[in-house]
Amino acid sequence: MVKNGREQPVVINSNFFTRSSVVETFTNIRALIIDMDGVLWHGAEPMPGLCEFFQTLRELRIPFILATNNARSTATEYVTKLAKMGVTVVIDEVLTSSMATAQYLSEHFEPQVTKVYVVGEAGAIEPLLARGFTLTGLYEPGADLVVCGMDQTITWDKLATATLNIRAGAKFVGTNGDVTLPTERGQTHGNGAILAALQAATDVKPLVIGKPEPIMYRQALSILGADLATTVAIGDRLDTDILGAVRAGIRSLMVLSGVSTEQDLAVSDFQPTWVLPDIIEVTKALRGESVNWR
Ligand SMILES: [Mg+2]
Repeated sequence: MVKNGREQPVVINSNFFTRSSVVETFTNIRALIIDMDGVLWHGAEPMPGLCEFFQTLRELRIPFILATNNARSTATEYVTKLAKMGVTVVIDEVLTSSMATAQYLSEHFEPQVTKVYVVGEAGAIEPLLARGFTLTGLYEPGADLVVCGMDQTITWDKLATATLNIRAGAKFVGTNGDVTLPTERGQTHGNGAILAALQAATDVKPLVIGKPEPIMYRQALSILGADLATTVAIGDRLDTDILGAVRAGIRSLMVLSGVSTEQDLAVSDFQPTWVLPDIIEVTKALRGESVNWR
């Protein structure tokens, strides 16, 4: 850059690739889409401030959907889990990636004449049966769809049945693409790793429904009857919760109580609208109290 005939140093704004230093005002929030693991609890342990968070949502009459990529558990199991932690929610306030998958498939296929082979547990199976799909068994040919959800009882025979059906032309669908699964022993393989194995065996890429694809968020917005402009997604994972919100066109609030860290944020090419440490701070922000935005 030349100014007054002299070469001037080019100043690069160090904030350019990071979140804006001016935090958008936390207002105009009429509905929330809330991730569960890493936001509301760690495994069986509720996060501090869990009951106060839900009391605040009820008092302020903010409708919400609890949206999880976890395909293994049913909505009823989540309602029961929260009840044990002192929180009352209803089944209609829960949306798992399996429920989202069953809904999506029922919109694109005729359940009464569509046969599905499922690699998955009750969480994946029940929503498909509830929509009227017919499930096929081990080594049974002729499935129209192969749905792969989280299956901790996976076997050689299940993988072989899925592979044979996909190679014979069944459409390949994954409830969610998370490649890892946090456990008390550390990170193990998630549903995305099973999808990768089937993709390697069939050379067919799965259609994935869960976050960061925007399908679940769109379904949640529809259930809530909410607008893009007045809805906020809360989550702990940049690569699923926050990226999904970006793709769906809604604002997002990342909490630092789960998987993603401030170090992850520093190197990410997309950003949440807001960052807070945990739901205690989210509760304060919803109540209009001052919080330290990160
Ligand atoms: Mg989470």
